[in-house]
Amino acid sequence: MSAIILSIGDELILGQTLDTNSAWISQQLAAVGCPVLAHLTVGDDQAAIERIIGGAIHQCSWLIISGGLGPTVDDLTRQALAAALHQPLELNQAWLDELDRFFKQRNRPMPDANRIQAMIPRTSRMLFNTCGTAAGIDATFGPENGLAVQPCRVFAMPGVPKEMKEMFTRDVLPAIASAGGGAVILSRTLHTFGIGESRIAELLGPLMDRASNPSVGTTVSGGQVSLRINARFPSRALATRHLDQTLADCQKALGHLIFGEDDQTLQQIVLDLLSKSSPNATLATAESCTGGLLGKMITDIPGSSACFHQGWITYSNDAKSQLLGVPEAMLNQHGAVSEPVAQAMAQGARRRADATYALSITGVAGPDGGTPAKPIGMVCISLAHPNGCQSHTFHFAGDREMVRERSAKTALNLLRYHLLNQPLPQ
Ligand code: AMP
Ligand code: MG
Repeated sequence: MSAIILSIGDELILGQTLDTNSAWISQQLAAVGCPVLAHLTVGDDQAAIERIIGGAIHQCSWLIISGGLGPTVDDLTRQALAAALHQPLELNQAWLDELDRFFKQRNRPMPDANRIQAMIPRTSRMLFNTCGTAAGIDATFGPENGLAVQPCRVFAMPGVPKEMKEMFTRDVLPAIASAGGGAVILSRTLHTFGIGESRIAELLGPLMDRASNPSVGTTVSGGQVSLRINARFPSRALATRHLDQTLADCQKALGHLIFGEDDQTLQQIVLDLLSKSSPNATLATAESCTGGLLGKMITDIPGSSACFHQGWITYSNDAKSQLLGVPEAMLNQHGAVSEPVAQAMAQGARRRADATYALSITGVAGPDGGTPAKPIGMVCISLAHPNGCQSHTFHFAGDREMVRERSAKTALNLLRYHLLNQPLPQ
């Protein structure tokens, strides 16, 4: 028992509309233990839709289609489905009555084009749409009509997410859930920062074996490596037990490299640790190449005003000296991108904001300005704290945006390790 999700629309293959329907449908299917074999996308091309339906029905028990049920000439899902079923399109009187009512209620004549929305392939069932004019279609391919060896039930729904969700929840999901034979799929995500995907894989070892259940996979975004743990078992209790065990195994293997779970962000975790360290603890920032990104990330968190009162963007040397008290001689001797300057920035910010902690960032974000001694991606980050100051030099890969994002997150991670009283991992 598995499903294929097919999204139909030129706007999807042209990249103008993001296919959010497939993601949502996949999540719903996971909740009832129905594995998804593939997400497919095809444009408004009847022959292509027909070919894809014709191939997909032999590979899955459920083919879930969205899009192409509108009233215009580019909406061709019902025609393609009828052709694949070798059935003509027939007027569905019940839906035509609904459409009549729909337009009468709005005091508008029904455009002729809308009549097509009441046409469904003979032998198929009409699915009501309570928030739009496109009826859905429920059709079966299988041994009884000689169209497939194994039965495959096809649901075609409108593309408008609201209409699709309503129809899917009411008519599609219960059919799949009650067919049984499935399992419960439960998922959790653990987030790490500051260490590469391959090193994470080394540390996890056999936990990442492809055949394991629960399975552990990694995804990378903005320097953050996330572990996606999926448990597929016949019952929720079993899935929960195995998921918890694998979660604990991952936590044991990676320790403090893991900063949070599921929806948690690095900045949220750092602010939590900060407020737990002392209710009055405060943090200031002094940024050069990140231009305020660190301050933005901190203030993205509601309630950050409790610990974050001010930050500086000191882009020029003059600003670093005048606003943070970085000695001009130091800037001349070491250059703005150097650990002594990063340290002076952090200490200046901490002193002038009268804060418990201050983070500073100064680096070469690129695309210009790199030298052999200070290449693009070189960033110095300092943390000034009540017992002193620690400074580090990093070499980040990537373009300007990536270097800036890594820098801000690395600064937060530096504070996280300090608050955890742990050394920064190498
Ligand atoms: P349709 O049913 O093809 O007329 O689709 C109506 C509208 O729904 C489109 O114009 C899109 O804006 C939206 N839509 C269609 N398919 C999707 C999809 N897979 N994900 C998100 N939105 C979609
Ligand atoms: Mg469309």
